[in-house]
Amino acid sequence: MIVGLTGGIGSGKTTVAKLFQAQGVAIFVSDTEAKKLMKTSAEIHQELIALFGDEVIAENGLPDRKFIAGKVFNDKDLLEQLNQIIHPRVASYFQEWKTQQNTPYIIYEAAIIFEKNLQHRFDYTIIVTAPEEEKIKRVMKRDNSSEEEVKARIKNQWPDSDKIKLADFQIENNDLELTKTKVSALHKHLLSLVNA
Ligand code: ATP
Repeated sequence: MIVGLTGGIGSGKTTVAKLFQAQGVAIFVSDTEAKKLMKTSAEIHQELIALFGDEVIAENGLPDRKFIAGKVFNDKDLLEQLNQIIHPRVASYFQEWKTQQNTPYIIYEAAIIFEKNLQHRFDYTIIVTAPEEEKIKRVMKRDNSSEEEVKARIKNQWPDSDKIKLADFQIENNDLELTKTKVSALHKHLLSLVNA
Protein backbone atom coordinates (compact mmCIF):
# COMPACT_ATOMS: atom_id res chain seq x y z
CA MET A 1 0.00 0.00 0.00
CA ILE A 2 1.39 3.40 -0.96
CA VAL A 3 0.30 6.53 0.86
CA GLY A 4 1.02 9.95 -0.67
CA LEU A 5 1.79 12.69 1.84
CA THR A 6 1.77 16.33 0.81
CA GLY A 7 1.24 19.85 2.12
CA GLY A 8 2.25 23.41 1.46
CA ILE A 9 5.66 24.87 2.23
CA GLY A 10 6.31 24.94 5.97
CA SER A 11 3.23 22.85 6.77
CA GLY A 12 5.51 20.23 8.29
CA LYS A 13 5.29 17.41 5.72
CA THR A 14 8.79 16.14 6.41
CA THR A 15 8.25 16.45 10.16
CA VAL A 16 5.05 14.40 9.87
CA ALA A 17 6.67 11.88 7.51
CA LYS A 18 9.41 11.33 10.11
CA LEU A 19 6.77 10.70 12.77
CA PHE A 20 5.37 7.93 10.55
CA GLN A 21 8.89 6.63 10.13
CA ALA A 22 9.22 6.48 13.91
CA GLN A 23 6.13 4.23 13.88
CA GLY A 24 8.00 1.83 11.58
CA VAL A 25 6.83 3.04 8.16
CA ALA A 26 9.33 3.35 5.31
CA ILE A 27 9.30 6.90 3.93
CA PHE A 28 10.48 8.28 0.61
CA VAL A 29 11.09 12.03 0.83
CA SER A 30 11.10 13.03 -2.83
CA ASP A 31 12.83 16.37 -2.30
CA THR A 32 15.70 14.71 -0.43
CA GLU A 33 16.02 12.02 -3.11
CA ALA A 34 15.95 14.68 -5.84
CA LYS A 35 18.76 16.57 -4.08
CA LYS A 36 20.83 13.37 -3.83
CA LEU A 37 20.32 12.55 -7.52
CA MET A 38 21.23 16.14 -8.46
CA LYS A 39 24.58 15.56 -6.78
CA THR A 40 25.34 12.07 -8.04
CA SER A 41 23.85 11.71 -11.51
CA ALA A 42 26.24 12.57 -14.36
CA GLU A 43 23.27 12.44 -16.76
CA ILE A 44 21.47 15.12 -14.76
CA HIS A 45 24.63 17.29 -14.74
CA GLN A 46 24.83 17.05 -18.54
CA GLU A 47 21.19 17.97 -18.99
CA LEU A 48 21.45 20.87 -16.54
CA ILE A 49 24.41 22.24 -18.52
CA ALA A 50 22.39 21.91 -21.73
CA LEU A 51 19.52 23.85 -20.14
CA PHE A 52 21.34 26.51 -18.09
CA GLY A 53 24.90 26.63 -19.49
CA ASP A 54 28.23 25.74 -17.87
CA GLU A 55 27.70 28.19 -15.00
CA VAL A 56 25.15 25.82 -13.50
CA ILE A 57 28.01 23.68 -12.17
CA ALA A 58 29.72 25.38 -9.23
CA GLU A 59 33.42 25.23 -8.42
CA ASN A 60 32.89 22.19 -6.23
CA GLY A 61 31.67 20.28 -9.30
CA LEU A 62 28.05 20.13 -8.12
CA PRO A 63 24.97 21.89 -9.51
CA ASP A 64 24.56 25.36 -7.99
CA ARG A 65 21.11 25.19 -6.37
CA LYS A 66 20.93 28.93 -5.68
CA PHE A 67 21.74 29.73 -9.31
CA ILE A 68 19.07 27.31 -10.49
CA ALA A 69 16.47 28.61 -8.02
CA GLY A 70 17.13 32.18 -9.19
CA LYS A 71 16.72 31.19 -12.85
CA VAL A 72 13.45 29.27 -12.47
CA PHE A 73 11.76 31.41 -9.83
CA ASN A 74 9.89 33.60 -12.27
CA ASP A 75 10.07 31.40 -15.35
CA LYS A 76 7.43 28.70 -15.44
CA ASP A 77 8.68 27.18 -18.72
CA LEU A 78 12.20 26.84 -17.41
CA LEU A 79 10.90 25.35 -14.15
CA GLU A 80 8.92 22.82 -16.18
CA GLN A 81 12.03 21.89 -18.17
CA LEU A 82 14.00 21.50 -14.93
CA ASN A 83 11.25 19.25 -13.57
CA GLN A 84 11.43 17.17 -16.75
CA ILE A 85 15.08 16.51 -16.01
CA ILE A 86 14.68 15.66 -12.34
CA HIS A 87 11.21 14.16 -11.78
CA PRO A 88 11.30 11.15 -14.11
CA ARG A 89 14.55 10.05 -12.49
CA VAL A 90 13.17 10.45 -8.97
CA ALA A 91 10.07 8.50 -10.07
CA SER A 92 12.08 5.65 -11.50
CA TYR A 93 14.29 5.53 -8.40
CA PHE A 94 11.09 5.35 -6.30
CA GLN A 95 9.89 2.34 -8.32
CA GLU A 96 13.15 0.57 -7.54
CA TRP A 97 13.20 1.69 -3.88
CA LYS A 98 9.67 0.51 -3.14
CA THR A 99 10.46 -3.08 -4.14
CA GLN A 100 13.10 -3.13 -1.40
CA GLN A 101 10.75 -2.10 1.43
CA ASN A 102 8.97 -4.54 3.66
CA THR A 103 6.90 -2.35 5.98
CA PRO A 104 3.07 -2.82 5.93
CA TYR A 105 2.73 0.34 3.87
CA ILE A 106 5.07 3.04 2.60
CA ILE A 107 4.82 6.82 2.49
CA TYR A 108 5.81 8.93 -0.52
CA GLU A 109 6.24 12.56 0.53
CA ALA A 110 6.16 15.31 -2.09
CA ALA A 111 5.30 19.02 -2.12
CA ILE A 112 3.30 18.56 -5.26
CA ILE A 113 0.82 15.73 -5.67
CA PHE A 114 -2.57 17.29 -6.40
CA GLU A 115 -1.13 20.12 -8.50
CA LYS A 116 0.26 17.46 -10.87
CA ASN A 117 -2.83 15.25 -10.58
CA LEU A 118 -0.74 12.39 -9.20
CA GLN A 119 -3.19 11.34 -6.47
CA HIS A 120 -4.32 8.31 -8.48
CA ARG A 121 -0.89 6.75 -8.04
CA PHE A 122 -1.58 6.30 -4.34
CA ASP A 123 -3.93 4.11 -2.37
CA TYR A 124 -4.55 6.99 0.03
CA THR A 125 -3.39 10.59 0.37
CA ILE A 126 -2.68 12.72 3.44
CA ILE A 127 -2.49 16.50 3.48
CA VAL A 128 -0.56 18.27 6.23
CA THR A 129 -1.87 21.73 7.03
CA ALA A 130 -0.93 24.56 9.37
CA PRO A 131 -2.09 28.14 9.88
CA GLU A 132 -0.53 30.44 7.26
CA GLU A 133 1.12 32.73 9.81
CA GLU A 134 2.72 29.69 11.41
CA LYS A 135 4.03 28.38 8.05
CA ILE A 136 5.55 31.77 7.27
CA LYS A 137 7.27 31.95 10.67
CA ARG A 138 8.67 28.41 10.36
CA VAL A 139 10.10 28.87 6.86
CA MET A 140 11.57 32.32 7.65
CA LYS A 141 13.38 30.73 10.58
CA ARG A 142 14.43 27.53 8.77
CA ASP A 143 15.60 29.11 5.50
CA ASN A 144 16.61 32.50 6.84
CA SER A 145 14.33 34.11 4.25
CA SER A 146 12.19 37.24 4.35
CA GLU A 147 8.42 37.29 4.90
CA GLU A 148 7.95 38.48 1.29
CA GLU A 149 9.99 35.60 -0.11
CA VAL A 150 8.01 33.03 1.85
CA LYS A 151 4.68 34.62 0.90
CA ALA A 152 5.68 34.54 -2.77
CA ARG A 153 6.52 30.84 -2.49
CA ILE A 154 3.19 30.13 -0.81
CA LYS A 155 1.40 31.99 -3.60
CA ASN A 156 2.97 29.65 -6.17
CA GLN A 157 1.24 26.67 -4.56
CA TRP A 158 -2.42 25.68 -4.44
CA PRO A 159 -4.33 26.90 -1.39
CA ASP A 160 -4.83 24.24 1.32
CA SER A 161 -8.62 24.46 0.91
CA ASP A 162 -8.39 23.01 -2.63
CA LYS A 163 -6.10 20.19 -1.59
CA ILE A 164 -8.13 19.27 1.51
CA LYS A 165 -11.09 18.49 -0.76
CA LEU A 166 -9.01 15.94 -2.69
CA ALA A 167 -7.12 14.31 0.19
CA ASP A 168 -8.33 11.23 2.06
CA PHE A 169 -6.89 12.41 5.39
CA GLN A 170 -5.81 15.73 6.86
CA ILE A 171 -3.33 16.30 9.66
CA GLU A 172 -3.39 19.79 11.10
CA ASN A 173 0.17 20.28 12.37
CA ASN A 174 0.17 23.09 14.87
CA ASP A 175 0.97 21.80 18.34
CA LEU A 176 3.66 19.17 17.76
CA GLU A 177 2.57 16.95 20.67
CA LEU A 178 -0.96 16.83 19.28
CA THR A 179 0.44 16.03 15.84
CA LYS A 180 2.26 13.02 17.30
CA THR A 181 -1.04 11.71 18.71
CA LYS A 182 -2.78 12.28 15.37
CA VAL A 183 -0.03 10.44 13.46
CA SER A 184 -0.22 7.53 15.84
CA ALA A 185 -4.01 7.28 15.40
CA LEU A 186 -3.83 7.58 11.62
CA HIS A 187 -1.06 4.98 11.49
CA LYS A 188 -3.32 2.51 13.33
CA HIS A 189 -6.13 3.30 10.92
CA LEU A 190 -3.88 2.82 7.88
CA LEU A 191 -2.68 -0.52 9.27
CA SER A 192 -6.30 -1.61 9.50
CA LEU A 193 -6.77 -0.61 5.85
CA VAL A 194 -3.74 -2.67 4.79
CA ASN A 195 -5.32 -5.71 6.32
CA ALA A 196 -8.86 -4.94 5.16
P1 ATP B 1 8.99 22.38 2.79
O1 ATP B 1 7.87 22.17 1.85
O2 ATP B 1 9.49 23.76 2.80
O3 ATP B 1 10.10 21.35 2.63
P2 ATP B 1 7.76 20.95 5.01
O4 ATP B 1 6.30 21.02 4.80
O5 ATP B 1 8.43 19.64 4.71
O6 ATP B 1 8.44 22.17 4.29
P3 ATP B 1 9.13 20.84 7.53
O7 ATP B 1 10.47 20.99 6.93
O8 ATP B 1 8.74 19.53 8.14
O9 ATP B 1 8.00 21.33 6.51
O10 ATP B 1 8.89 21.95 8.66
C1 ATP B 1 9.25 23.31 8.42
C2 ATP B 1 9.93 23.87 9.66
O11 ATP B 1 8.96 23.98 10.70
C3 ATP B 1 11.04 22.96 10.20
O12 ATP B 1 12.06 23.77 10.69
C4 ATP B 1 10.35 22.18 11.32
O13 ATP B 1 11.25 21.79 12.32
C5 ATP B 1 9.33 23.19 11.83
N1 ATP B 1 8.08 22.57 12.33
C6 ATP B 1 7.38 21.57 11.75
N2 ATP B 1 6.27 21.28 12.46
C7 ATP B 1 6.27 22.12 13.51
C8 ATP B 1 5.37 22.32 14.62
N3 ATP B 1 4.25 21.60 14.78
N4 ATP B 1 5.67 23.29 15.50
C9 ATP B 1 6.79 24.04 15.34
N5 ATP B 1 7.69 23.92 14.33
C10 ATP B 1 7.43 22.96 13.43
